[in-house]
Amino acid sequence: MPDQDFVEAIEGETRLLVPRSSLSDKVPPKTPAFFNPSARLNRSVSILAYRAFARQLSKERTFADSFTGVGARALRVAVEVPEIEHVYGNDLNPVAIDAAKKAADLNSIADRCTFSIAEVCKFLTDHATGDGGRFAIVDLDPFGTPAKYIDCLLRAVLDEGLVSVTATDNAVLCGIYPEVCSRRYYGKPLNNSYCNEIAVRLLLSLLALTASRLELSIRPLFAHANIHYFRVYAQVFVSSGSANKALDNVGYVMHCFHCGNRFLARESDLPCPVMCELCGTKLSIGGQLWAKSLYDKEFVARMVSFDPDRECKKLLDLCAEELDSIPYYFKADEISSMLKTNPVSIAKMLEVLKGAGFAASRTAFNTGGFKTNARIDQILNVIK
Ligand SMILES: [Zn+2]
Repeated sequence: MPDQDFVEAIEGETRLLVPRSSLSDKVPPKTPAFFNPSARLNRSVSILAYRAFARQLSKERTFADSFTGVGARALRVAVEVPEIEHVYGNDLNPVAIDAAKKAADLNSIADRCTFSIAEVCKFLTDHATGDGGRFAIVDLDPFGTPAKYIDCLLRAVLDEGLVSVTATDNAVLCGIYPEVCSRRYYGKPLNNSYCNEIAVRLLLSLLALTASRLELSIRPLFAHANIHYFRVYAQVFVSSGSANKALDNVGYVMHCFHCGNRFLARESDLPCPVMCELCGTKLSIGGQLWAKSLYDKEFVARMVSFDPDRECKKLLDLCAEELDSIPYYFKADEISSMLKTNPVSIAKMLEVLKGAGFAASRTAFNTGGFKTNARIDQILNVIK
């Protein structure tokens, strides 16, 4: 590896060695190694989440980065999450692993890092037995879909441990290729104005249903969406009792593309025929998907307590406020255009809805969106 291909970059409090071309090229190249500078927010948010989680760990305090690349996330955890005793980073690319090891030396943390070169499921399965082998926190951040690695991921995490998963197949999860989405996530996407929340919930439901097959259950702690990726954090529990109840946590979002009506339905009460009660149009189905809350609000508050930068803080403040058990949102401009009025601000929408006795909040999924338990016709009525 010619050293001039790599340069030092500081992210958070950590020194990284990254391919020079990754800092200048519009799309970060995969050779000699992959590093995406624009995933900084993704990594910074994860540091807050891991710090918030590591606080409650008692014995095994380990972190595994299964697609580590040049080690950006693994090294940042070793430097910036002091509660984690040992970090494991794995990648198939030996050039990337070499850069990660050199950067570990630069940060004087080499004794707390183990790097390996293996296929990801081999790496995870090698750590899938016994309490000594499994990890307290495992991250899965592959190119594209994480769907094919979810079993291995869940096998490699300790009871009560944490998994974090990124999906970058946004077009699939947002409904451009619905058949691909159905086979990867066992749920139908909705190609509509709030498809990013549907996407996160499809990803969580894949995690929940896979867990239940392995006699495990999950509890989401945090999730966020971005134009380039969807990301979820969930605690994993060994419990066949909770695994039996997995289907209680999933459902369907019914959406009317004609009048904008939307609601959550359970399998047992799916409307039949599937027609919109407001306008009689055939409804579209999203899911099955995660139908319960997305955030543990105490966990989010703990993340905020670490004094995050402005961008992270803005995201977390929105999550703290969000009515996150409602699995969809409305966009203010959508409402204004249906009413053929000038744009109404989110603040005004919330004020009017709350004044009329409805629950309403902003949403972290869209700065122009809001959540409410009011139905579309009720929203239009009170806003008009
Ligand atoms: Zn309708």
